[in-house]
Amino acid sequence: MKEEEIRKREVFNKYLELVEEDVKTFFDFSRFEVGPCPACGDKRSVEQFKKLGFNYVSCKNCNTLFVNPRPPFSVLDEFYSRSPSTNFWVNEFFKPVAQIRREKIFKPRAQDVAPMIPATSHLNVGDIGAGFGLFLEELRKLRPDSTYYAIEPSVEMAGICRSLGLEVRQQSVEDVKDLDGSFDILTAFELFEHLHNPSLFLKKINGLLKPGGHLVLTTLNGEGFDILLLWERSKSVSPPHHLNFFNTGSIAGLMKNNGFEIISVTTPGKLDWDIVDGMIKKEKASTGKLWDKVALLDEKAKSALQKWISESNMSSHMRVVARKVK
Ligand SMILES: [Zn+2]
Repeated sequence: MKEEEIRKREVFNKYLELVEEDVKTFFDFSRFEVGPCPACGDKRSVEQFKKLGFNYVSCKNCNTLFVNPRPPFSVLDEFYSRSPSTNFWVNEFFKPVAQIRREKIFKPRAQDVAPMIPATSHLNVGDIGAGFGLFLEELRKLRPDSTYYAIEPSVEMAGICRSLGLEVRQQSVEDVKDLDGSFDILTAFELFEHLHNPSLFLKKINGLLKPGGHLVLTTLNGEGFDILLLWERSKSVSPPHHLNFFNTGSIAGLMKNNGFEIISVTTPGKLDWDIVDGMIKKEKASTGKLWDKVALLDEKAKSALQKWISESNMSSHMRVVARKVK
């Protein structure tokens, strides 16, 4: 998989320009709130950098990289509901690459989760932030006997999920009231980096799961290859969207503190090198002589490097499977 296939550089850069405009309209930095590390709760941190006015620090205890002070929940909610950049993301960025994303991202995701559902059994499965419902649609093809819930606050996207025949809750997961103790499996893809309060969010998820129920999540790893190499220049470091960069250790700690046991933490990312390669070649980013040299190697060498990155838990795309224990 290549970055350019799922995220056209020009369109993505245009989106980032719109985000910069929206930050000026929606965010009043004087109202931001100082808080502890979102993973371990430690109050000691080290300043890292500022981006678009957002201050990033790393936790002295667990090395989670996070925005501090942070925008209030209500402001983020407003931004996600009605900012021009969000509208652009849905209509101009996502829709044109939706089918290729279905093939490259959502089908493999469904194949990944399907073995957790015994072939003929009926489970309740929910996807938090279900978007256009592509993941659930693909999973339902593989395991048609289960019931699939799309939890999706956006009116437009919830409507699309409904048209696919999914059970839809058009609300944030925090507001779902009637499904406590209902789910065998919940999934949350690329969500934890956005959360205002990950610990509260996990408590809510824990309440929705049956005893022994599973949570599968993916998020960014702040100790991953392309993020460590590009640091504040990384396009993954994109406020106001990405507030939390956990790592393989800190995400595990966060889950254990909220009533889960860890089954696996892996980094199955495929794009780390391609992202760095693109930054060196297309955007003249300097990452040092070693990586300039690597950028000249052939595809075989680069894919060996990416394989090493993933298998050494060094990718910035991280996947966690956990089980509710209390
Ligand atoms: Zn911490």
